[in-house]
Amino acid sequence: VSGDLVIRNASLATLAAPAPRRGSALGDPGLVESAALVARAGRLSFVGPESGLDPAALPTGARVIDAEGALVLPGFVDPHTHIVFSGDRDDELRRRLAGASYAEIAASGGGIVRSVEATRAASLEELEAGLRARLDELLLAGTTTAEVKSGYGLETGAELRSLEAIARAGADHPVSLVPTFLGAHEIPLEHRSSRERYVELVCTEMIPEVARRGLARFCDVFCERGVFTVSESRRILVTAREAGMDLRLHADELADSGGAGLAAELGARSADHLVHVTAESRRRLAEAGCAATLLPGAAFYLKLGRYAPARELIGDGVTVALASDSNPGGGLSPSMPFAMTLACFGMGLSLEEALCAATLNAAWTLGLEHEAGSLVVGKRADLVMLRSPRLIDLVRVGVRVIRRVVVGGRVVVEDGARVGGA
Ligand SMILES: [Zn+2]
Repeated sequence: VSGDLVIRNASLATLAAPAPRRGSALGDPGLVESAALVARAGRLSFVGPESGLDPAALPTGARVIDAEGALVLPGFVDPHTHIVFSGDRDDELRRRLAGASYAEIAASGGGIVRSVEATRAASLEELEAGLRARLDELLLAGTTTAEVKSGYGLETGAELRSLEAIARAGADHPVSLVPTFLGAHEIPLEHRSSRERYVELVCTEMIPEVARRGLARFCDVFCERGVFTVSESRRILVTAREAGMDLRLHADELADSGGAGLAAELGARSADHLVHVTAESRRRLAEAGCAATLLPGAAFYLKLGRYAPARELIGDGVTVALASDSNPGGGLSPSMPFAMTLACFGMGLSLEEALCAATLNAAWTLGLEHEAGSLVVGKRADLVMLRSPRLIDLVRVGVRVIRRVVVGGRVVVEDGARVGGA
């Protein structure tokens, strides 16, 4: 029966404990040795020591997998991606390798606006096909839930088309999707001399239409020096909140822009990037219960030369999550294990902390802590089975350490290939 599955002889990292995890609780993976796991109709119905499993109570006809002692984890949750777009920016990447900065590339007509040109010219079908191909890449890397943002349309029609592509792919792709409206990703070229008119357009035309059609769960803004100011961001986010969307925010990536303080002020679920977050803003995030979603892959590929102060954020009691920031310009890896690797070797997290940040805490930032992010009875049976019992294998970049990916109790990736249709 679809969605019925039994896994025996496994080592489990359950992450079983309430979300969000902060401080020292971040480092407890909830290990269970000699364990079994049962899914019925796509949801977990048993998770625990094999000795507690009643053989008579197993779903009849279920697929049974012997994990041969390998480690089984919750499927990864990626809470920050930009994977609806058209075209490529390979020439810019070459310029960056030769030493050009993000700001220099943007100032010479490159960056986000290049993707906007190609995305506006693409049909809904083309956007959907590109998104599906990228979702397959996420799935092969073990991601079973992902947030996906619009933000390369920057005009009402193309923004709606981007969100429509997310809705279509989300209807049947194995990766569960959470859509975010990011019409305020950049000021489009035609509004550079009239920024306030573009903010007006986002607030009076795009947000009402996105809300009316129920196309986005969250609204996000790129609050950054040279992009949207704190007051412009506040106006857009307040409008979105009144229209029923929850908030997340690109904050303090390239400079201390005041974005993290704004996220705390508005009760956003998450402030993302935070490479330049101040001690005062960290304190405000902790007080407001606003998560810090860190994207070390972006800092790495943008050659920023520094990472977000993860240890200080954890020490201050802020909820820390990780994301890939998969995007056409500066997020070239869709792999959450790669984000975890950078978190461990660039930002000082332990493996166990990185795992919690890439699963349970990431799910919390999306409001999905009751559905995803840990191996707990009642949640979706979304999981990753490694080839070995060793969590540390996840940081061996380039080695195929994931043996299987399961979504809703069905094996969807086996030995590095998609299986099972959809
Ligand atoms: Zn982003």
